[in-house]
Amino acid sequence: MPKIVIIGAGIVGCSLADELTERGYNDVIVIEKGKLWKPGGSTSHAPGVVFQTNGSRTMAQFARQTVEKLHSLQHSGDTCFLKVGSLEIATTPERLADLHRRAGLALSAGINARVVSPDEASKMHPLLVADKFLGALYVPDDGIARAVLADEVMGKRAISRGARFIAECEVVAIDQSEGRVTGVQTTHGLFPADIVVSCAGIWGPKIGAMVGMSKAIQPLAHQLCYTAPIPELASYKQEAELPVLRHQGSDLYFKQRGQSLAVGWYGHRPLPVKAEDILPNEQAEVMPSQMPFTAEEWKGAMEGATEIIPALKNSEIIESMNGLFSFTVDNFPLMGEWSGLKGFWVAEAVWITHGCGVARAMAEWIVDGHPSLAVHECDVNRFETHQLGAQHIEERGTQNYIEVYDLLHPLQPMESPRPIRTTGFYPRQKELGGYFLEAAGYERPQWYEANAGLLDRYSSPPRDDWSSKFWSPIVGAEACAVRDGVGLFDITTLKRIEVIGKGALEFLEQLTTGNLRKKTGSITYCLLLNEKAGILSDITVMRRGENDFFIGVNSNSDINYLKQLAPDTVHVRDITAGTVGLGLFGPHARELAQSLTRDDLSNEALGYFRLKNTYLGHVPVMLCRLSYVGELGYEIYTTADMALKLWDTLWQAGKKYGLIAAGRGAFNSMRLEKGYRSYGTDMTSEHNPHEAGLSFAVRKGDGYKGAEAFKELNPNELTRRLVCLVLDNPEHVVLGKEPVLHEGKVVGYVTSAYFGHTIGKQLAYAWVPSEFSSQNTEVSIRYFDQDYPATVGADPQYDPQMTRLKS
Ligand SMILES: Cc1cc2nc3c(=O)[nH]c(=O)nc-3n(C[C@H](O)[C@H](O)[C@H](O)COP(=O)(O)OP(=O)(O)OC[C@H]3O[C@@H](n4cnc5c(N)ncnc54)[C@H](O)[C@@H]3O)c2cc1C
Repeated sequence: MPKIVIIGAGIVGCSLADELTERGYNDVIVIEKGKLWKPGGSTSHAPGVVFQTNGSRTMAQFARQTVEKLHSLQHSGDTCFLKVGSLEIATTPERLADLHRRAGLALSAGINARVVSPDEASKMHPLLVADKFLGALYVPDDGIARAVLADEVMGKRAISRGARFIAECEVVAIDQSEGRVTGVQTTHGLFPADIVVSCAGIWGPKIGAMVGMSKAIQPLAHQLCYTAPIPELASYKQEAELPVLRHQGSDLYFKQRGQSLAVGWYGHRPLPVKAEDILPNEQAEVMPSQMPFTAEEWKGAMEGATEIIPALKNSEIIESMNGLFSFTVDNFPLMGEWSGLKGFWVAEAVWITHGCGVARAMAEWIVDGHPSLAVHECDVNRFETHQLGAQHIEERGTQNYIEVYDLLHPLQPMESPRPIRTTGFYPRQKELGGYFLEAAGYERPQWYEANAGLLDRYSSPPRDDWSSKFWSPIVGAEACAVRDGVGLFDITTLKRIEVIGKGALEFLEQLTTGNLRKKTGSITYCLLLNEKAGILSDITVMRRGENDFFIGVNSNSDINYLKQLAPDTVHVRDITAGTVGLGLFGPHARELAQSLTRDDLSNEALGYFRLKNTYLGHVPVMLCRLSYVGELGYEIYTTADMALKLWDTLWQAGKKYGLIAAGRGAFNSMRLEKGYRSYGTDMTSEHNPHEAGLSFAVRKGDGYKGAEAFKELNPNELTRRLVCLVLDNPEHVVLGKEPVLHEGKVVGYVTSAYFGHTIGKQLAYAWVPSEFSSQNTEVSIRYFDQDYPATVGADPQYDPQMTRLKS
């Protein structure tokens, strides 16, 4: 059994000790520099308000698990979670509409939620005045975490199973040898360890620095005040009985504490703090995570508060603080084993709301090798290098604080700092009026204004205000024009690696489901599975030589996964930034490419799923005969220095064939028509290949990770499936993540959705129980407050015979 040291006894550290010891991992030591059970971190002073609804399914599940666990814990005979419910208030029509969308997100994640009228809401909370707002989102199972008490219960339970908690002991260094953690140095001496888990919250960056790791965490001060007793609450005697409130339009939240209210505010000027500047426990006035209150920052908070709670008009503030907690560059926590040091794990930037769920996933990961929930969004190894610089961390972390309650569209990119990365094609894309969104830090065109003229030929159904944000009818015109002619897509943002060296084939065979023993020049689409046959990623493997592979992967997590497991003779190298990629797709793609090379590109000479190294004009390229949009065409790769030459060469030659540049919007629409799944959206590690409709990508036999579990699966006895829903009315647009209902009951959720411009249908891929997965089953999709009828359709909808791709 490994020796495990956990740094920090906040909600995450205590919960992790509990989860590990529950699984029989009892050799656990929790080292905490403060006093138990209120050691001075963020958990020690936070009001513990829990709103479970989240745009991320995984985060919502973490919250659900936290609520369930805390509710089951008893401290002195009382539960550690007060299920008082929550009300999110809307004072504008836009916010009210958004509450319906958020109700959908909650229902999709299995959280009970509904939008209620002002009258109903004010009956639930006597401080609300019905004519001050338009409606509220009610989530009955939200409420208040009694986190300090829960820490004590979980900590003592872990101790009873053999764990040790060492308080008032500070970790000052982390020992390592040959790339592995060996222990921690503390103010009380050395503690040997095979695994160290940093659960240090706002001190995370400081612990990271001990091992040379930059963490994308920015501690920020957040203002929280408690009022004196409010006469209107005189009859309330309990700790908390009323729903917690959120008035996101004014950046405020509220919690009843007996006869007073806690008021938290995000509307103030952001106040970033460096982890190394946080005061030591003995020097902090109250506790290290509490900075002195700055009254000038609070100005404006009470105006917003009295807008919906007039009773606060004459209230006095009797307690106030600038409390510290962590934000990250992308709003997700940091979880998992850091690729830079074996045995060094992180679980940080976690709200109390998600604390127990995150800890459970961490314990499963450490004990079983993989968590049961999909954690790719939270993987500590997910970041691009540019995201780990101090300036970026501060600017993005701070901006995320500012936007925490903003009404953000799912496609909305952060406006600053931008642009960060541009591909070599950027100047030409700008000239064509590219409308850019951000992908992995890159500017990526969603469509090109230069294609507005195509609207004379192709039209799209109208869209409502919400779905027409970050969208243009040009998207549809581009998709149709590519199907009719030929288009150029910038695919540089998709990640690429090289796997080279003696044993590379055997190495890849062990980890992937594909049959890679094919001739040089072959291309194979396959999967990475975990031991339970859950899908870790889908990848495209190009065999360039006997032991030389070029692989299209999904994320830095994939790259780290392969790097960690590669034998010494095999080199795994990220070549994304040093290369560029263009997709040349459409029925005229071959004629165009052929006009630029003397090599034979006929179907016989370069068939589907084959590659060729050649030149297009002056540009050395790898031409790969595949396309993610379901058309004849090529992915074309070259080195970054040749980017403009490649673009210009194709552009010049393409005039004859009506070549257009096409954006990501068209790409998404086309890939959905063809039924091509997108990892992380359509399927995750929670799904197996049969359920996801990807068993064709799994080779017969064994010898690859996950093979045993895969063999155990019966494709005829699946409990759920990913299906293609076709909305009955093509003008009904949905965007993804909406709940799917059958006879009024939520049965599933949408993953990707897009209008299929070629087939003239609105498509939505969705997870549903098997009993609702056969074709022609009628369901509905809830979009805001509307239920749109939809029917399970064929998968794919476009070119199921693959004639276009293989022609
Ligand atoms: C004012 C305020 C209000 C908030 N309100 C809410 C809310 O309503 N709902 C919600 O979900 N979240 C809320 N949060 C956020 C939430 O409090 C934190 O995200 C959460 O408590 C973090 O828990 P943790 O266990 O990761 O970190 P912490 O609770 O900070 O624990 C980390 C521990 O690590 C210890 N440690 C650090 N370095 C060392 C070292 N070198 N050696 C030994 N020990 C070390 C620290 O002493 C600390 O005890 C709020 C935060 C603030 C500041």
